[in-house]
Amino acid sequence: MNKISNRPMTEFLTSARDIFPYTQELRRDFHRHPELGFQESRTAQVITRELKKLDHLELKTGIAETGISAFLEGDPSGPVILLRFDMDALPIQEENEEEYASENKGVMHACGHDGHMAIGLSAARLLHDQREHLSGSVKFIFQPAEEGLGGAQRMIQEGILVDPAPDIVLALHLWNEKPLGWFGISDGPMMAASEIFQVRIVGKGGHGANPHEAIDPILAASQIVTNMQSIVSRELSPLEPGVISVGSIHGGSAHNVIPSEVQLEGTIRTFNPQTREYVLERFEEIVSGIAESHGCWSEIKIEKLSPAISNDPEIAGKVRSVVSRLFPDARLDQTYRTMTSEDMALMMEEYKSCYLLVGSANKALGLDAKHHHPRFDFDERALIQGTAVITTAALSLLDR
Ligand SMILES: [Zn+2]
Ligand SMILES: [Zn+2]
Repeated sequence: MNKISNRPMTEFLTSARDIFPYTQELRRDFHRHPELGFQESRTAQVITRELKKLDHLELKTGIAETGISAFLEGDPSGPVILLRFDMDALPIQEENEEEYASENKGVMHACGHDGHMAIGLSAARLLHDQREHLSGSVKFIFQPAEEGLGGAQRMIQEGILVDPAPDIVLALHLWNEKPLGWFGISDGPMMAASEIFQVRIVGKGGHGANPHEAIDPILAASQIVTNMQSIVSRELSPLEPGVISVGSIHGGSAHNVIPSEVQLEGTIRTFNPQTREYVLERFEEIVSGIAESHGCWSEIKIEKLSPAISNDPEIAGKVRSVVSRLFPDARLDQTYRTMTSEDMALMMEEYKSCYLLVGSANKALGLDAKHHHPRFDFDERALIQGTAVITTAALSLLDR
């Protein structure tokens, strides 16, 4: 078998450049027709249509509503690499006026998932062309509902990590926090673990002029909001990252009435699994302890969204070497971390895996709005880079 290691990697950069009109057309088509999580039916039809053109792919559709998997068999005695691309858009009204702007009112691809799917389909084509030379097999996963809706978990429950199980897992994200030419591929932790909390503090309502006859949940909630910050600032090592943010607080409806209940919602972010468990435990102790000391009753719901994204250093090192061979001028960041989170962590947890960020901003062209902004857009040359890196990394990781 003609192994990849004997061939110049830049060959696949040329292929990614050649296929760019296809990649760009798909990206713009997805961008024009964004769909929210678990509702990506048109999106799934386009992906299925394109994958069906590649006759050696074994397709499964309708996984977790709209998800798709496509299996490309190479050397059956070799490893299996899973490549995952997310599909969903966001409930945002687009403010860009490009000809490819969203045609769905109030829905927008403002995170770059349109680009990820276009990269995934382009990589599928290129890897399909190379199937005679694949030292293992490739499992392409198109995942619905990444934006906090639990798409990865649903796909896992529906069996995408078995038959066959992957040996290596790769995923990427276009990254507008950084310019085109930058790549973030860290050894170890890279994106935070994330949880949503919902807290109810229940006291006893009464007249604002007679607080002694009431049990004031607003005072208790105020102290809870202040004191929960002491977990990160006083209990974690100053070198250990953690965030607790309250994003909503509701209680009361009149200036002279003590309400009976206050509700809080927010997010908790950490990297280290032990820190994660510690923060969650202390969070519950502080909330219930302060509520109780005020005579209030509390109810705490914590939804664990995803663990931290943590790269396998060996796989990350190999992906970095692919990037530096393809793009000798690339700015490679080996220590980048962000407190944002990704449900891809659930697919990566048990396997040798790597998540990579592909810088996509271009300030000079006005393409540097942040992710989830109504003017989000990126330099489409990042699509070429993403396609070249994911294709070449898959080929070379299979070739061992
Ligand atoms: Zn997003
Ligand atoms: Zn995203």
